[in-house]
Amino acid sequence: MAMQLRYRCMGCGFTAEGWDEGNPYIEFSNGKREYFYHPGGELELMRRLMLEGSDESLGEERSRGNAPDHLCLDCKEVTMLDPDRDKMQCPKCKGTNLAETYNLKGHPCPDCGEILGEGAPGAIS
Ligand SMILES: [Zn+2]
Ligand SMILES: [Zn+2]
Repeated sequence: MAMQLRYRCMGCGFTAEGWDEGNPYIEFSNGKREYFYHPGGELELMRRLMLEGSDESLGEERSRGNAPDHLCLDCKEVTMLDPDRDKMQCPKCKGTNLAETYNLKGHPCPDCGEILGEGAPGAIS
């Protein structure tokens, strides 16, 4: 079961949310990542790829990883990055000031700089 945390800036109302399980993915031999989000999502993904016939164009399953959402504290872009493999850099502004959206407590709000507090439990899936 995945749990969501929502952060809300007390200063300006900026909100961000993240999931504790991040974004698990399968990487294929053509370098493309396909994400699945919840228990059973992996099977759904495989079925979809088979129906689309894209499992052939993707090639073999190469590896698995997890790329949680990261918030750029400079430009507010949210992007999926795997800390184990990816260059931790915002694709939009090239900044490196990134924080996982599930883990924003103690980070400054990208809008007003106020330090973000405890996240509130959001949706469960
Ligand atoms: Zn950025
Ligand atoms: Zn703010």
